[in-house]
Formats: sequence, structure tokens, C-alpha cells
Amino acid sequence: MSEPPVSRGPAASDAGLTRSLLTGWGRTAATAARVLRPSTVEQVRDALQMVRAGGPAPSRGVAVRGLGRSYGDAAQSAGGTVVDLTGLDAVRDLQVREGDALLTCAAGASLHDLLRLLVPQGWFVPVTPGTRYVTVGGAIAADVHGKNHHRDGSFASHVESLSLLDGRGEAHLIGPQSDPEAFWATAGGMGLTGVIVEATLRLLPVQSSWMLVDTERAANLDDLLDRLSSRDHLYRYSVAWIDCLATGRSAGRGVITRGEHAPADALHGRATARAWAVPSGPLVSLPGPLPAGLLNRASVAAFNEAWFRKAPRHRAGELQPFPRFFHPLDGVGDWNAVYGRRGFLQYQFVVPIQREDTLREVLARLRGARVPSFLAVLKRFGPADPGPLSFPRPGWTLALDIPAGLPGLAGLLDECDLLVAEAGGAVYLAKDSRMRPELLSMMYPRLEEWKGTRDRLDPDRIFRTDLSRRLNL
Ligand SMILES: Cc1cc2nc3c(=O)[nH]c(=O)nc-3n(C[C@H](O)[C@H](O)[C@H](O)COP(=O)(O)OP(=O)(O)OC[C@H]3O[C@@H](n4cnc5c(N)ncnc54)[C@H](O)[C@@H]3O)c2cc1C
Repeated sequence: MSEPPVSRGPAASDAGLTRSLLTGWGRTAATAARVLRPSTVEQVRDALQMVRAGGPAPSRGVAVRGLGRSYGDAAQSAGGTVVDLTGLDAVRDLQVREGDALLTCAAGASLHDLLRLLVPQGWFVPVTPGTRYVTVGGAIAADVHGKNHHRDGSFASHVESLSLLDGRGEAHLIGPQSDPEAFWATAGGMGLTGVIVEATLRLLPVQSSWMLVDTERAANLDDLLDRLSSRDHLYRYSVAWIDCLATGRSAGRGVITRGEHAPADALHGRATARAWAVPSGPLVSLPGPLPAGLLNRASVAAFNEAWFRKAPRHRAGELQPFPRFFHPLDGVGDWNAVYGRRGFLQYQFVVPIQREDTLREVLARLRGARVPSFLAVLKRFGPADPGPLSFPRPGWTLALDIPAGLPGLAGLLDECDLLVAEAGGAVYLAKDSRMRPELLSMMYPRLEEWKGTRDRLDPDRIFRTDLSRRLNL
């Protein structure tokens, strides 16, 4: 399958090792590594063997990389070897039986390519994050969630089995039944238990590529939380945009969008003729990093005001193409350049239901510090996923994009981390670029259990990333 026509950072070489500077999606803290882009499982095994045999910088280990959509330093390794899996993207098998379908594909296949293939055949991926430019391997390694977490759980909950090359280069076919310990240490394990080379996923049947969407405004945070708590269960997908800069009686106001896959008999107008339309790629691209300071408190406050006012107070049953509903930012290639040369970070945390006080406090502190964020998303998670390092747990998760380099930001977020950890919550590792290691075991209380399984799968710790070194994983 072809690669999506978006940049995923500096190019990796198709043959042999290339030295490249790599960052995550936030474009901060670039580090140089030798990058290898294998196109067969044998070549992945050779790369692991090369590092084990004392090839270039063995002590810096091997990091696995998909499409580089984690925001921070999870898929890079200063001075090490990075294995870019996007060359392994073949679809091996699609088995359909009695309303169910199982897809087996190489782990470097992107959700973008899979959706282009599957949707016209009446199938959808079971969980999609806010971008479809992620690989299946990256989606499992971060155990990603979508707008349907309250209903369907995380991505790995829909994986029947996966094929893993461990730290000794040995292959294991593991699943939630056959080896739950290894499977759930790998799901959410951020590439530190081995290289996922193939996976089999259960798919969701759909009757069109359209979504039926209900939109409503909420006047403030209480109203927003009430509306999400009382009606989320009526929809498969639900999410809210929140205006982080609104103050006074409007503090925490937002716009809720919820939806379902549109049944065939709900289509009308142009949707009927384009019932199975799929996106080809980004429609436009930014020319490069935009000037610093473009996103400041005034411009973001103006944007938020306009965005809130533009949303209908209440609208039901609007037909939307699925990319607009799930992946609104994917239409602009390299939109991360909007934050200029210093880049940005995403702060995403979860706090348990009943700890709305912490959510309120973190929002108040960010507002008080005049942090300009126009992309702030709130969601209510369903039951916890079984992975010791999986992020979702019952509660409220808030994700905000923040320009890097704001004065005082590091200290402010350290304080927020502490509030979150004390409330029994956690920061999401796939988004993190700055957290300190001390709070990790508070946020992920099963960390030692995970380390035990990791040590079984990678006894010599050849899998290392900048994130794993920063957080002592
Ligand atoms: C615009 C945007 C919206 C997003 N929305 C969401 C969201 O709604 N929900 C959510 O959960 N996440 C979301 N994310 C985060 C994203 O889904 C995850 O970071 C995902 O892991 C990225 O996949 P990738 O292929 O780009 O992996 P990379 O970023 O390249 O790698 C991520 C991690 O997976 C490991 N990894 C990658 N491939 C493999 C493999 N084959 N075997 C073993 N380990 C591997 C890497 O070592 C690394 O630790 C979003 C990101 C962006 C940019």
C-alpha cells in the first residue's frame, strides 16, 4: 500500500542506515539517530541482531517508529538506531463471516490506507484516534482511544492477536487469550517490549462512509459535564471541544459533537451519490513553520469566541463525511508547523469520575496563566483497559495543544501533574514530552508488573527511546 502523502519528519533511507534528526508531532527536542526502514520481517530481525551484536551504538538501543504521530519523544532515540516500520504495510487477509470481519495486516499499515481499502467494502476500523495517519503498530503500542472509548474501549481491545519480535529477535504470536501478560504489556507498552510486525483486528460493519452527527453547545463546565454524563451512552461516539479561555459564568463552555455511522436509509442529497466516498489525502499543506507569536492569547481568544458562536445551539442528524467527524485536522498536511519553529506540546491527562474538582482546578490554573490553547478536547472514558500502561480509565480526559516555550510553562505543568497524580489520574505517555519520572508509578500503579513482563521479553533492554530514558522506564 502506498504511504500517505504527508511528512512524517526527516526521510528515512530505503536501504541501509541513514542519520536523521527526528521529533514527534510537536516538533520539539529533535535528536539524531541512525534510521533503518526495512521492508521485510527478516530485515527487522537483522536490524535487531545488528544492535545486539554490538553494531552502531548498542548501548543506545533500538527504537521502533511508525508515522511519528506521538507528540513527544516516544519514537526517537538520541544516538541510537530507529527502525521505521512504515515499509511493512501489506494487508495480508480479510476474512468475513456472518457479519464479522477480521483483518490481518503488517504493523506499518496506516489507518488512512486501511480505511481507504475497507470502507468501500462496508467495514471500519474499530477505534480511530483524532488522526488517521497512525500505523497499526503505533496504535497498539500506545493503546490508543477514540471518541467511542466509553462504548468500545481502546484499540487493543479489538486486536485478536499480534506478532511480536522480542529483544532476542524471537517471534511470538500473542493474543489476549494465548498470552495475556505479554499482550497487555505490549498494548500501551510504547514499543519497549518488542517490534509488533503484524496484527489481526476485528472490524466494525458500516452501511456508508457518512456519519449522523448531533451538535449542542454547553454554557459552562457544569453544563458540559452534565450533558456528557447523562447522554453519552446514547451514542457510539462523543467528544467535546472546550473553550479554555472563557471566564466567569462561561468558564468551561464548550461544543459537544456526538454521532453514529449513518445507516444507508439515512443518506440523502449528495451523500446518496457518494455513499462510500473515502479521502485521498490532505487537501492543502502549510508552506513551512509560521512566524512565532502568531498563536497568542488574543488570537486564540478571538478564535475560540468565533468557534463557539459558529456552533449551533442544538442541531440533530447532520450528515458529515467520516473524515470531517473523526479527523478534521488531517485535511491540512503538516498543520503542526502552525506553531512555528519552537513547536508545541499536547498536555493530556485523565482524572477519575468524582474528581471533577481536579479538572476544574487544572483548567483554572491554565486559564490563570493565560495559556493560549484553541485545541482543547474533553471526553468521558469508559471502563479501564487491561494494559498496565494503558492510559484510559473511567474518568474525564482533557487534551490541550500548547505552544512550547511559554514562560513558566514547565513549572505550571509540573504542578498540574501533581494534582492529577494525587487525584488518581495519569498523563498520557503518547502525548508526553516533559513529565518527570517521579510521578510515573503513582499514575501507573501497575508499573512494576509491566517492568517484570518487559524484562521477560527484552532481558537485555535493547528497546530504548528518549521517552524511556527520560522516564526511567
Ligand atoms: C492530530 C493527532 C490526534 C491524535 N488523537 C489521538 C486520540 O484521539 N487518541 C489517542 O489515543 N491518540 C491520539 N493521538 C496520538 C497517536 O494516536 C499515537 O501517538 C499513536 O501511537 C501514533 O502512531 P504512530 O504510528 O505515529 O506511532 P509513533 O508516534 O511513530 O510511535 C508511537 C509509539 O509506538 C511505538 N511503536 C510504533 N510502531 C511500533 C511497532 N510496530 N511495534 C512496537 N512499537 C511501535 C513507538 O516506539 C512509540 O513508542 C493523536 C495524534 C495526533 C498527531
